[in-house]
Amino acid sequence: MSKYRIGTKCVQAGYTPANGEPRQIPIIQSTTFKYATSEEMGKLFDLEASGYFYSRLQNPTCDTVAKKICEMEGGAAAMLTCSGQSANFFAVFNIAECGDHVVASSAIYGGTFNLFAVTMAKMGIEFTFVTPDCSDEELEAAFRPNTKAVFGETIANPSLRVLDIERFANAAHAHNVPLIIDNTFATPVNCRPFEWGADIVTHSTTKYMDGHGSAVGGCIVDSGRFDWMASAEKFPGLCTPDESYHGITYAQRFGNEGAYITKATAQLMRDFGATPAPQSAYLLNLGLESLHVRMKRHCENGQAVAEFLQSHDKIAWVKYPNLPGDEDYRLAQKYLPNGSCGVVSFGVKGGRKAAESFMKNLKIAAIETHVADARTCCLHPASATHRQMNDEQLLAAGVSPDLVRYSCGIEDARDLIEDLAQALDSID
Ligand SMILES: *Cc1c(COP(=O)(O)O)cnc(C)c1O
Repeated sequence: MSKYRIGTKCVQAGYTPANGEPRQIPIIQSTTFKYATSEEMGKLFDLEASGYFYSRLQNPTCDTVAKKICEMEGGAAAMLTCSGQSANFFAVFNIAECGDHVVASSAIYGGTFNLFAVTMAKMGIEFTFVTPDCSDEELEAAFRPNTKAVFGETIANPSLRVLDIERFANAAHAHNVPLIIDNTFATPVNCRPFEWGADIVTHSTTKYMDGHGSAVGGCIVDSGRFDWMASAEKFPGLCTPDESYHGITYAQRFGNEGAYITKATAQLMRDFGATPAPQSAYLLNLGLESLHVRMKRHCENGQAVAEFLQSHDKIAWVKYPNLPGDEDYRLAQKYLPNGSCGVVSFGVKGGRKAAESFMKNLKIAAIETHVADARTCCLHPASATHRQMNDEQLLAAGVSPDLVRYSCGIEDARDLIEDLAQALDSID
C-alpha cells in the first residue's frame, strides 16, 4: 500500500482480504483467543511469538485500523487507544517517568494541557510550555538535561496556531529527544508530520477521522526513525531490560521500527487497559474510508466561512490559518498547502455576552463539546473545554475570552453562511 496516494490509503490500507474473505473488515468481538498448548501461550507472554491472547492488549480489528492509520501517516508501527487523551498520555509516558521533563507548545488542546500541567505533574513529570512562535533562544532555554520529549499540535485546538514542525523537530533532535505531534486537526490528508521530521504522531480519532461523532478514540503512530539506543541513557525503559518481560530490551529485540509501540502495548496497555472496543475500531474505519473526500469539503467550507466572517462588521477578528494576512499564513502555506481544517475561530464584537447571544441564534450549528464532525457545531471554549484555565493560561494557549470555535461540517457552505448572517443580525 505504501506506494499509493493518501486517498487510496484512506479507502483500502490496512486490510487486504484473501479469496472468499469478507470485503469489509471483520469485527472480532472476542476478549480472548484459543491456543492448543500452554507452551504456545507462554511464548506470547514472553513476547517471543506474536499473536493475540487478550483484547486488553491487542485485538485484530483494532490492529487492522491502526495499520491503516500507520500507512496514512507513513509510519512504521501504530496502536489504537480508547481516546485521544489516552493516546497523548501513552505517547509521553512511554518515554518519560517520574523525575523527567518534557517541552510542550502552549497552544494545545485544553484537555491535553490539563493532562500535562496537572495530572502528569502529580506523577512527577514536569512540563515547560513555550508559545509556538517563541524565539529560538526561548525554545533552547526550555530544555533541561532530563528532557525526554517535545510535544506540539500541527494545528492547535482551538487556537488554530500552526506549529513550525521542522523547527521544533530540529530543536528536539539537537537534544537527542523525539518530537511528538498531535495531528488531529490536520489529519494525514492535509499534513504528514513525519515528512517534516516528527518522530511520533498522535490522534484523537474522535474528530475528523471518525468524522460522524460515533466513537471516541485515539491512535499513536511511530515513524520508526528515532534511534533510541543512540541516546540509551535517556531512555532506560526502551534500552535496558524490562523485568516484567523476563529481561527483554525493547530497542534491541524490536529495533527502532518496533520498540516504541511494542513497549506501549506490552506495558501501558497491559497496565492501564485504555483499549478501544472492536466495534469502535470498525466505526472509525468507516470514517477513514471517506476522510480524504470529507477533508476537502471541510476545508472549502472553512475557507468560505472565514472569508464571510472577515468581511462582517459585527465580527471583531477571525483566525483561520489559510486566510491571507493570518499570522500563521506562511506556515500554513508550507505545512498545509491543500487546506488546514474546517474549524474557524473568531470573536464577536461585544465580547462574551454577544458571543452567547449569537450562538443561541444559530440554527444549523449546534452548541456541542465537539469539533471536526460532518455536522456543523460550535463552542465557547472559555466557558467549556478551557474553563480550568486562568486568563494568563488562556492567553498562552491562544484562547481569548470572546473566542467562538466554529467547526464547519460538510453541509452546503451557502446555508452555513446564511445561518451565520441571520444569527449575527439578531444579536440582542
Ligand atoms: C479532542 C482532542 C484531544 C482529546 O481527544 P479525545 O478523543 O477527546 O480524548 C486531543 N488532542 C486534540 C488536538 C483534540 O482535538
